[in-house]
Amino acid sequence: MRDARYDILFEPIKIGPLTAKNRFYQVPHCNGGGYRDPSAAAEMRGIKSQGGWAVIFTEQCEMHHSSEITPFIELRLWEDKDIPQLRRMSEKMKEHGALAGIQLAYSGINGPNLYSKEVPLAPSALPIRTFTNDPVQARSLSKSEIKDLRRWFVNAAKRSKDAGFDLINLYGAHGFGIFQHFLSRATNQRSDEYGGSLENRARFANEVIGDIRDAVGDSMAIALRVSLDETIGDLGFSNAEVRDFVEMNRNLPDIWDLAQGTWEDCSGPSRFKEEAAQEELVKGIHDLTDKPIVGVGRFTSPDVMAKMIKSGTLDMIGCARPSIADPFLPKKIEEGRIEDIRECIGCNICITGDMTMSISRCTQNPTFMEEWRKGWHPETMNAKGDSENVLVIGSGPAGLEAAWALCRRGYDVAVAEARDVIGGRVTRERALPGLSAWGRVVDYRDYQLSQRPNVEIYRESELDADSILEFGFQNVAIATGSTWRRDGVARQHVVPMPIAQAAKVYTPDDLMDGTVPGGNVVVFDDDHYYMGGVLAELLVKQGAKVTLITPSAYVSDWTNNTLEQATIHAKLDDLGVEIILNRGVTEIGADHVISNCVYTGKTRIFECDAVVMVASRTGNDQLFHDLTNRQEEWADAGIRSVKLFGDAEASGPIAWATYAGHRYARELDGEDIGDDLPFRREITELAAQ
Ligand code: ADP
Ligand code: SF4
Repeated sequence: MRDARYDILFEPIKIGPLTAKNRFYQVPHCNGGGYRDPSAAAEMRGIKSQGGWAVIFTEQCEMHHSSEITPFIELRLWEDKDIPQLRRMSEKMKEHGALAGIQLAYSGINGPNLYSKEVPLAPSALPIRTFTNDPVQARSLSKSEIKDLRRWFVNAAKRSKDAGFDLINLYGAHGFGIFQHFLSRATNQRSDEYGGSLENRARFANEVIGDIRDAVGDSMAIALRVSLDETIGDLGFSNAEVRDFVEMNRNLPDIWDLAQGTWEDCSGPSRFKEEAAQEELVKGIHDLTDKPIVGVGRFTSPDVMAKMIKSGTLDMIGCARPSIADPFLPKKIEEGRIEDIRECIGCNICITGDMTMSISRCTQNPTFMEEWRKGWHPETMNAKGDSENVLVIGSGPAGLEAAWALCRRGYDVAVAEARDVIGGRVTRERALPGLSAWGRVVDYRDYQLSQRPNVEIYRESELDADSILEFGFQNVAIATGSTWRRDGVARQHVVPMPIAQAAKVYTPDDLMDGTVPGGNVVVFDDDHYYMGGVLAELLVKQGAKVTLITPSAYVSDWTNNTLEQATIHAKLDDLGVEIILNRGVTEIGADHVISNCVYTGKTRIFECDAVVMVASRTGNDQLFHDLTNRQEEWADAGIRSVKLFGDAEASGPIAWATYAGHRYARELDGEDIGDDLPFRREITELAAQ
């Protein structure tokens, strides 16, 4: 059972008129589903209730139509007709004893209103501050409009109560919520009683919280979510001012929910931020208030969590990503199953669901946002089907996840791995600069598999079609991964590019195998995710002089979606990497590359000793084709199915591989659904009360 060291995490705590059953607080987090997929989002929150969280929040919920952040998909509470779908969410949250929370957001200077077409309202008239630099400005709220806004908050609070929520979280963090816009001198340049001194800038928060408390405070608790530092220097809401604000308003909310800075800071990836990275910013604030404090820090270690509370730094442990990677984190600590925690790897793939307005995934937890769509539970697999055993070939993220999910279904599983180590691409990539935490994808599955009697892993076992036909497993799962291309085929070049015989061209696989070129090296990045930037870093660390050329306008372009693009650019610049944007490579010579401007086609020559080609990958699917070419031998060999999945089928991020492995395991021996859709969807209906 539970280790006494962690008892402190299970002590109930009062939040205003309510009591939370333990210290685990799922902070509001996006999921890419929002108002478009309310059932998927509701089921996902319900799973967290099963997993033992004491407080569970929605993502940000736009509380009035005059402020919304289209194209991003969050929740909406604009009229009574929104209440029923939100009530379903709160009911799911409360099913297993959690308190249900809703985050009310008025986006102010952050809401371009592309959908509602209303003129944005903010403390001061400024251009809208979004990821997309929309050509829209907000106008300044008049005093009578501030009164309107206060009333809209009260209306939203009453509707939240009606929808069954226990807590209201007022969003004033990450630069996204209007409370911060009032508090910060950068976004509040008013000269009336709402601007100027900190007391004046805090007036709006005081008024709204007072109004909400009068309206629903007898039964609902109020959290105020502010950032610990706006991170734009003294002009912004700095950490020193945050401390003054808390001290001057000791008992303002029922709980202080202290996020880090910008969203990029608060959800910093493991490549750049450690667990508990906010500790220095939050330390000591406890002495300034009588109310409890919750803070985040990608907490996955119960020892770090217990330390945060014992040291008086925090009262509750706030988690978004750790609760996504393992919705059962509190329950596992409670049951003394620490080694079963599926730790977040800090890759921020979950955030890309919001940034791309799709639906979120998680590298570690492939069931995330599939709880309702596919009926996948993170801890429980479907029952075993007709057949008995599976041979999984390849122990990368796809093969390992398949093996782990299959053995839980009750199949006998053998995993064959060509190398002497398991983990495939993860084992190779975890050794690259900044990516060590990604190794948790392997470590978690390695340990879990070692605990199961029905799985065997065979290392140094490269299989071919002959040996597979000889073994006679009923199901053959081929997850043999992919190989980086040397010929430049990716986006700029859809057929191999001209490369001189004498040119020295290396692939990411070469570098990961330990062959790292020196001298003047051009990294040509036409992949656009993390690999080009990471390899540039590796090359510099090993002494090379690096020029990174990419046809994109950004280094590691797609990492805009994982909130780390700006940090990657800054890091490479610091390392002395010459960054060449908006240029491709048309030709590679023995000692140079010819680069073209993507707009004008004008060429330029870059002298170099070697080129690292970060292009695309080819699936290692030969084995699959060898087997399918011999399909007539399957019956005699006892083979019922052969399936190719993961990077071998079509390359993608690691999260795509764990998803593919999980899906294979779920669907094995399942009924053939023919042309039917493999997931549920819904058209959201607004209903009258
Ligand atoms: P994925 O991301 O799809 O899981 P990876 O590239 O990470 O793919 O992993 C594939 C693994 O499969 C690698 O560890 C590789 O060594 C192994 N592998 C490839 N071909 C064979 C084979 N014929 N027999 C056994 N293992 C193989
Ligand atoms: Fe953590 Fe990555 Fe999962 Fe997000 S996607 S919760 S960062 S493991």
